[in-house]
Amino acid sequence: MNQIKLNTPIQKSHFCDFDFYIKRDDLINEDFSGNKARKFYYYLVNDFPNVKKLVSYGSNQSNAMYSMSVLAKIRGWEFEYYCDHISSYLKENPNGNYKGALENGANIIDLQGLPRQFLETKDDILYIPEGGYIQEANFGIKLLADEITEWIKLQNGNNFKIFLPSGTGTTALFLQQYLNYPVYTCACVGDEDYLRSEFLGLESNEKLHPKILKTTKKYHFGKLYKNLYLLWLELHSKTMIEYDVLYDPIGIETMINNRDVFGDSNVIYIHQGGLKGNVTMLERYRRKYGH
Ligand SMILES: *Cc1c(COP(=O)(O)O)cnc(C)c1O
Repeated sequence: MNQIKLNTPIQKSHFCDFDFYIKRDDLINEDFSGNKARKFYYYLVNDFPNVKKLVSYGSNQSNAMYSMSVLAKIRGWEFEYYCDHISSYLKENPNGNYKGALENGANIIDLQGLPRQFLETKDDILYIPEGGYIQEANFGIKLLADEITEWIKLQNGNNFKIFLPSGTGTTALFLQQYLNYPVYTCACVGDEDYLRSEFLGLESNEKLHPKILKTTKKYHFGKLYKNLYLLWLELHSKTMIEYDVLYDPIGIETMINNRDVFGDSNVIYIHQGGLKGNVTMLERYRRKYGH
């Protein structure tokens, strides 16, 4: 029914005098990649005989929106997506995830600041909350954890730690639940208290939560920071891997600045895809700082 293959490679990498491994979930599939592929995998491979339409909320350039548009297209579902606001510029000049979702047939509705309605899964409608913050995400993230565990078995020793940057924290949380290795993360959307409360929403036992490392400075999600842009450019040229522009520069910076926390452990960084959204972020960066 679908051609989406998981089981991505884990490769050695090196940056800023720091050796680490990188789990290449960006390579799952050009259109359905990264942690959104993992989170929505449940909806890709299970049977939903009654569902005719997928509905969700979120921002007009979100990676989740684009991935859901791909999911809906593969499954033959309608896709209705509500945004709080869409600028007239974007409507006239669609690009990035917004354009991609439209091309996949998404019906993207601009609420123009009106309050969000209550959405739920009912009858022939499947509702996925913003960003894929759902218990069902555990299905695909378990597969990610299993792949990592199998790979580590083939290595010398088992002194491994995992690092990945978080938005809603869903990926980090379920990864920790299924892995016998410590999972570290940092908050990219909101602060550490927000991330902690997101973890609690999915798992009440704090002992099972990933460990949160502090970011070097307070970043506001989606804003432009010259240091992060320069880090992304350097990362691209030195590792030859395209990272996501929104989360990864914060994640890589936090991992490297916390190298003491990892000691002599091997660190596996999870590449969570999201490259479709880079187009718009890089355009904004180039306009502001040049290349
Ligand atoms: C969605 C996303 C995240 C955040 O994932 P959460 O499970 O919400 O923490 C991180 N990186 C990329 C590239 C993403 O698209």
